[in-house]
Amino acid sequence: MSAKRSRLILSILMLVSLLTVLLSVVGFLPEDGTAQKLGWISAGGQAGGSDGAVDQPGTDQSPDSGLEDPKAEVAAGDLAEFPVADLVPADDPSGQLDSWPAQSSIERVREVDLASWTGRTKDQAPLTGITIFLDPGHGGQDTGALYPAHSSDPTAIESEINLEVAQKVRTELEALGATVILIRESDIWQSIFYRIAWTGRYLAEQFLAELADAGFESGKIEDLIPLLDQVMLINSDSDASGGRGLMSGEGASEELKLLLDVQAQYEDALYLSIHCNALDDDSSVRGLQVFYLTGATAYARENELAVDRGLANAAPVYRMYQDAARKKLARLVQDSILERLPALKYEGQKSLIDENYAVLRELNLASVLIELGFISNASDRALLLDPASQQQMAAGIAEAVYHYYCLP
Ligand SMILES: [Zn+2]
Repeated sequence: MSAKRSRLILSILMLVSLLTVLLSVVGFLPEDGTAQKLGWISAGGQAGGSDGAVDQPGTDQSPDSGLEDPKAEVAAGDLAEFPVADLVPADDPSGQLDSWPAQSSIERVREVDLASWTGRTKDQAPLTGITIFLDPGHGGQDTGALYPAHSSDPTAIESEINLEVAQKVRTELEALGATVILIRESDIWQSIFYRIAWTGRYLAEQFLAELADAGFESGKIEDLIPLLDQVMLINSDSDASGGRGLMSGEGASEELKLLLDVQAQYEDALYLSIHCNALDDDSSVRGLQVFYLTGATAYARENELAVDRGLANAAPVYRMYQDAARKKLARLVQDSILERLPALKYEGQKSLIDENYAVLRELNLASVLIELGFISNASDRALLLDPASQQQMAAGIAEAVYHYYCLP
């Protein structure tokens, strides 16, 4: 191409983009809701920026409160309201909490053909199409476990180890073709509920976009977005913080049930929370433990809480988790790490534990919480701090994900 011609084309392009900007400024062009939303998602690819600031709802990083979604306006008339069933909670005759029926309040929109990943080999980016949320536990003001415990000058800091391992897991998983979303990229504080709400919001936004593609809109699902923003704004794990909004614990409101029903359609996504354990009064305890949560345990534990706290009016309990998938993932993560680092074998009673952790309960993806080892134990601590061993842990976790999807 001649230089003259290039200059001409460049000038035309510049003129067109200038015109576009002008038109959008004076309001001739519709605001692109989709781009705005995706922009928020990628800008906040990690929930919270590297400067430690969290994405605050209501700023330009956050989409409008859903109800006035410009995209819906543009397509008005084309989109039908997506039906959401009014389910009636099952009364428990024995005086325990009510529970939501094991039935989704919405029709399936996403078709996830898990069989299409079966048999893929590692040289063909086998996890393409799979999204992994990686949650390095703690951060910022919350260091997690320390060694020595309560030290002002610790030699091992859980939040740092969690992040180092998570970053290695990301590299491993990306090499296998997965889309990896690290919930935090740096040493910043985010409450457990912030992380859950951020992930829930990400999936709700995606779901709304997919609904639109299918010819639907949903006021009820859009209404969830500001509720999730509120949880992120509260950004606290404590009851005394004025509540956790939608994630109030002790059962699931209708809105939370809807959110969890949406997430149930994401079999192509996993949530992995990465932690280290500690036991201050017994440094001999060591080894890997992997936690998951089933519907039965969620129900049992929520009932215990209701008794303890006298929560007569607790909301019905959500029980429709992906029990089998969670158990399978937990076992694979354990086996795959131990295959590489046999010294991490847990010698106590149980290494796979069905437990009611909020991060597993308020999200309905196949999910596990991994306690890599005990920072309070010398042998585990040496592994947790050693980059080569961290790499083995990361390779084990990535192998488990590969196995989960491709070698069922
Ligand atoms: Zn932890």
